[in-house]
Parts: sequence; C-alpha cells; structure tokens
Amino acid sequence: MAPPATSCRSPTPTTGSNWSGRSATGRRTSPLTLGHGSNVIASDTGHEGTVAVMNTRGITVKRVNDDTVAATVQAGHPLADLVQWATAEHLAGIECLAGIPGTVGAAPVQNAGAYGQQVSDALDHLTAWDWDMGRLRTLPAQACRLRHRDSRFKNDPCRWTILTATFHLTRSPAAPITYQPLADELGVHVGARLPVAEVTAAVLANRHRCGLLLDPHGSDARQAGSVFLNPPVSAAQAARWSAAGCPVHTDSDGQLRASAGWLLEHTGYRPGYKIADGIRCSERRTLTLTAHDGATATGFALALSELSVQVEIATGIKLRPEPTLVGAWA
Ligand SMILES: Cc1cc2nc3c(=O)[nH]c(=O)nc-3n(C[C@H](O)[C@H](O)[C@H](O)COP(=O)(O)OP(=O)(O)OC[C@H]3O[C@@H](n4cnc5c(N)ncnc54)[C@H](O)[C@@H]3O)c2cc1C
Repeated sequence: MAPPATSCRSPTPTTGSNWSGRSATGRRTSPLTLGHGSNVIASDTGHEGTVAVMNTRGITVKRVNDDTVAATVQAGHPLADLVQWATAEHLAGIECLAGIPGTVGAAPVQNAGAYGQQVSDALDHLTAWDWDMGRLRTLPAQACRLRHRDSRFKNDPCRWTILTATFHLTRSPAAPITYQPLADELGVHVGARLPVAEVTAAVLANRHRCGLLLDPHGSDARQAGSVFLNPPVSAAQAARWSAAGCPVHTDSDGQLRASAGWLLEHTGYRPGYKIADGIRCSERRTLTLTAHDGATATGFALALSELSVQVEIATGIKLRPEPTLVGAWA
C-alpha cells in the first residue's frame, strides 16, 4: 500500500556513486526507499519528498568453496524469484522464505523470516548508500544488527538505501526443520533435513492454506500481511497464556513471544470481522487486515490502534504494528 510522492525515482546504478543526495538548494536529502510496498501503510496525504523505488534486478554467483556459493542480488529483485532460483539450483539457506512478498533489498530491513528461518541465517553482507555519510558502504551481516523482525535499517529509515545483498548458500539438503507446523506439513520430525525443493513446496502449500500468499486479484489483495508482530512476553505471561492455549515460542534472540493472531481471536476478533468502513480482518486469517472500498489510511491506522487497545485490555499484552507507517500522520 504505497504512497503518492512529490517525486519518484527508479535508481538503476548498483554503486550509487552518482547519488549526490543533495537537493537544488544544496541541503543533504534522503529519499524514502521502497521495494514493492508490501510492508508499508502510506498516509492519505502521501509522502512529502522523493520516493526511490528499487527496480534493479539480477543475481551474480561466485564460488566460495566446494559446497558454498555467494549469490549477490540486486535490491529490486523479487525475493520470491530469488528463492525460486535457489531451489532450482539445489542451493539451501533461504528455502523457508518462499512466498514472502517484496524485494531482496527490503528483506534485511525487518530481517524477514518465516517457518523457522530468517534473512540473517544466510546473509553474508550487503551494500548500501549511506545518506548521512554520502557514500557507498559495505556492511557485513553482523553490522546490520539483524534481530527478530528488526535491524539497524528499520530503526534509522532515512539513512540507508540498500543496493545489493549477498547470501551464502550451500549445495546441500535444506537446513534442519525447526518449526513444528512445517514438520507436520512435511510429515517429518523437527530436525529432519530434506531436499530444498520439498521444503519450498511445503512452505508454499502451508502459506496457501493459511492465507499467507498474496493474491493480487483476490478479495484480500489490499493488505500489508500480518499487522502485528508476535509480542514479547515475560515468563509469567508465557506460562499463563500458554496454559490458556496461546502458542508461545522463543525467537532467535531468546525472547519469548506470544501469538498475536491467537491474542486477537481471544479478544473476540475473527476472520472477516468488520472493524471500520472498508477495513476488516482477512477472510482467511484474523491477523491480516484488508482494505476495501471506502477505506482510508487514517481509518486503517485507527483500526490498528483499536485492536491493540482491546487486546491490551483483555490480556495486558501490548501489540506493536509490523508494517511501517510512511508519510505525514495527524
Ligand atoms: C501476504 C503477505 C505475507 C507476508 N509474509 C511475511 C513473512 O512471512 N515474513 C516476513 O518477515 N514478512 C512478511 N510480509 C511482510 C513483507 O512482505 C516483508 O517485510 C518484505 O520484506 C517487504 O518487501 P517490500 O519490497 O514490499 O518492502 P516495502 O514494503 O517497500 O518496504 C518495507 C520497509 O523497508 C524499507 N525499504 C524497502 N526497500 C529498501 C531498500 N532497498 N533499502 C532500504 N530500505 C528499504 C522501506 O522504506 C520500508 O520501511 C508479508 C507481507 C504480505 C503482504
């Protein structure tokens, strides 16, 4: 759900070396960088300033050793196409990211992940234009501060335009399955290792069944995916709510997290529930809000806040929106 902008550029260079980052008045400016806009909610008045939409594409492969290749991918390359390519090449490391919409350049921003795997598992380094320093930077994965759905880019959005991402992928079976629903889908135990193509197919089948695949022509087409992150909970909250049936898991940073979807349903929301004019829970899953005729971005943001308040009243747990709000908000 991307914004109207006062100007829009589609950068082509991968080095960024001709990006002065200065406006006509000589002031340093930075654009709002977007990929496919699948994880942003733009204000009704749009964005005051330049929006750079990443359309760069391509994958360059270099041998690291007998088992490992380094795949350097342009920021505008669709993540789904990258996973499809890796699957066809029998390269493991990103197979569980199948079906996540958006671009490769946006994937490190919230350390995109699903089914027990995330960008940080395979990212080696990336290149980015640093608008503060006015130069191209190469950042090793460690310097990206990738955490659960978080990174230094998410916390400092105007500073960076990610240009390429380099993943280390291995010629091997897929990484061990760590996520129980995926193990169930495959009919194996957690820890099993299977061919990459089998895992990718199972992830896509499970996403399809759970309403997690974006259908651009379906009734849920206007959406930004899950609207809340699974909230961090204390050990006491985890014990209390898992006893009530709430799925609780430990994320890759060791933090206990409760299921945001379960908390919404416990509070009374259901798939298809109408929250405001033109805004309702997806027909397939409560955690996805969809926009229809009559919806406004302001209404969407108010709906998020209403849901969050009601869940906090019912459970004492605070939900934080996952999509990024861009533009001016009253
Ligand atoms: C149906 C659906 C399912 C989803 N499932 C998942 C999932 O399973 N796991 C998951 O993690 N996410 C999921 N998402 C969220 C979303 O797909 C990811 O966050 C994705 O990485 C966003 O890519 P994009 O190109 O659309 O980014 P955009 O929405 O365009 O941008 C997202 C953020 O990244 C910034 N950004 C984008 N490109 C760059 C760049 N090149 N340099 C610097 N900053 C940039 C933007 O400014 C913005 O803050 C889902 C979304 C939908 C709609």
